[in-house]
Amino acid sequence: MSRPSPIAPTVDFDKDGVQHGFLRLPYSRDDSAWGSVMIPICVIRKGKGPTALLTGGNHGDEYEGPLALYDLARTLDPKDVSGTVIIVPAMNYPAFRAGTRTSPIDKGNMNRSFPGRPDGTVTEKIADYFQRELLPRADLVFDFHSGGRTLDFVPFCAAHTLSDKALEQKAFDAVAAFSAPFSMRMIEIDSVGMYDTAAEEMGKVFVSTELGGGGTSRAQTVRIARRGISNVLRHAGIVEGAVETGTTQWLDMPSGDCFSFAEDDGMIETMVDLGEPVKEGAVLARIHSTGRTGIAPQEIRAKMSGILAARHFPGLVKAGDCAAVVGALVS
Ligand SMILES: [Zn+2]
Repeated sequence: MSRPSPIAPTVDFDKDGVQHGFLRLPYSRDDSAWGSVMIPICVIRKGKGPTALLTGGNHGDEYEGPLALYDLARTLDPKDVSGTVIIVPAMNYPAFRAGTRTSPIDKGNMNRSFPGRPDGTVTEKIADYFQRELLPRADLVFDFHSGGRTLDFVPFCAAHTLSDKALEQKAFDAVAAFSAPFSMRMIEIDSVGMYDTAAEEMGKVFVSTELGGGGTSRAQTVRIARRGISNVLRHAGIVEGAVETGTTQWLDMPSGDCFSFAEDDGMIETMVDLGEPVKEGAVLARIHSTGRTGIAPQEIRAKMSGILAARHFPGLVKAGDCAAVVGALVS
C-alpha cells in the first residue's frame, strides 16, 4: 500500500459548474520555507457522462497545447457539456514556467517519469498524482505535444498501434475527429515511463499530437489545436455539436527505420523541408564539421520513402540527436 499523494486539489471533481483552481504540491525551498507548486487546473462538469482529461505542457517548451487549453478553460460553457472536462494546461508547471522541456527543480522529464512516486521528486509526485488520481477518472485522455526547442514537426494528431485492437480503433477514431492536416500511427523510440503508456495500460483511450515546434507556436498550428480539441470533445459526446472535419493525410511509422540520428557533431543543413516527399536513399540532411575547412559533410540518408515528418530544429547538432523522421504515406 503506497502512501497518499502529497498533492491537494483545490477543486471538487464531482461538482457541477466551472471551477478554476490548483493542484497544490508542497515544495519547501530557500525562497519559501512552507511553499508549494501551484499547478493550474480547471474542471467543467454537468451531470453524468464521460470524462475527458486534457493536458498541455507535459514538456515545458511546447505551446500549442497550453494556448488551446487555457483558452478552452476560459470559454467552455458547462451548459454545453455532458459529463466532465478536466483541463491541466501546463502539466509540468515548473518546466512550463522556465520554458524548458524538463523541470528546473529536478531535471525531471514528465514523459519519462510515470508511474511516478508519492515520495519522489517534484516531477515524480506530479506523475504519481496523474497515475493514481486523474487517469482513473478519465475515459478519454488527450495530451498535446509539439517539438519543443529541438524538434519541428508537420502538424499531426497521433495514436499508438496497440495489441488491444478495440482500444486502438477508439483512439484512431478520435485522431480522425481531431482533423489535423496529418494523422499518425505512431511508434516510440523509448516508451518506458511515458504518460501515454500509463494511460494505455489502464485501458484508456489516449490521443496525442505533435503540432510544430522550435520552442514557439505558429498561427496555423494554434488554430489546428483549438479546432481539433473542440472536435474531439464533440466526437466523444461530451460537448454538443458536429465535428468540423477537414482533409487529413494518414502517416505510418512502420519501423525504427523512420528515425535518423546524427553520428557527428556539427552544423546541420536540412536538404528537405517538412512535408516534402522523400525517397529511400535520399539525402535528408548534411552535417558540416566546423573545426577546419576542407572537410566533406556527413550525409544522413532516408532509410524509407515517405514525407519528412520531423527534423532537428537548431542550426547546430550533436552526435545522437534525432536529425529527421520520415513518415510513410498511407493511401
Ligand atoms: Zn513533448
